[in-house]
Amino acid sequence: MTTVIGNLQQVHSRIARACAAAGRPVDSVTLLAVSKTFGADAVREAFAAGQRAFGENYVQEALDKIAALADLRRQIEWHLIGPLQSNKTRPVAEAFDWVHSVDRLKIAQRLSEQRPADRPALQLCLQVNISGEASKSGLAPDEVPAVARAVAALPRVRLRGLMAIPEPAGDEAAQRAPHRALRALLATLNDQGVMLDTLSMGMSADLEAAITEGATMVRVGTAIFGGRARG
Ligand SMILES: *Cc1c(COP(=O)(O)O)cnc(C)c1O
Repeated sequence: MTTVIGNLQQVHSRIARACAAAGRPVDSVTLLAVSKTFGADAVREAFAAGQRAFGENYVQEALDKIAALADLRRQIEWHLIGPLQSNKTRPVAEAFDWVHSVDRLKIAQRLSEQRPADRPALQLCLQVNISGEASKSGLAPDEVPAVARAVAALPRVRLRGLMAIPEPAGDEAAQRAPHRALRALLATLNDQGVMLDTLSMGMSADLEAAITEGATMVRVGTAIFGGRARG
């Protein structure tokens, strides 16, 4: 019998071991608990165990959950990590703290226009198709610099970094290659003066590889909440 609290402890130990092996302080990595397909109760359980940042993929599901957890709103940080269509930007701009899946300038422009004036700037990452898969969403690496400069100039959003969902790979050496490529892209942008501090990469299966290559935010679902029927 596993529990969310026990699973969270295991994920924290994995993060701590990976940070130690990489010579990184453990607080240089933020754990995002990916609660997609799980109910508000599961989020409450993780919250009770100290978890504060949660990632969601589906806009409507997330809005329902955020409403059901309104009593915790000021203590929870909500991150959208799934695809975002331009006709859904308004509720996202109103309800979330972060969006990791920005893959077009137009989406960022709408989020900036629609972010309520009484909320802090919405924190953004650009999603990069780092493995070059035809089916995956995200900007091609060579499109990123121009989009990053344009997004960084928008008033009501703050560009924080890059996000990727690399193709699954069996061994750690193969897992590390796309993470290393994303980190190199972030370094290039910083050299060009777009100041970014966030590398959102690493999931249940590859968080060690991601941390070795510099991940600052790992997005972990299955290892915390268990298997999913979908998503
Ligand atoms: C579902 C999902 C995750 C979490 O994946 P797990 O393998 O369950 O840890 C992370 N990032 C994104 C974008 C996802 O859609």
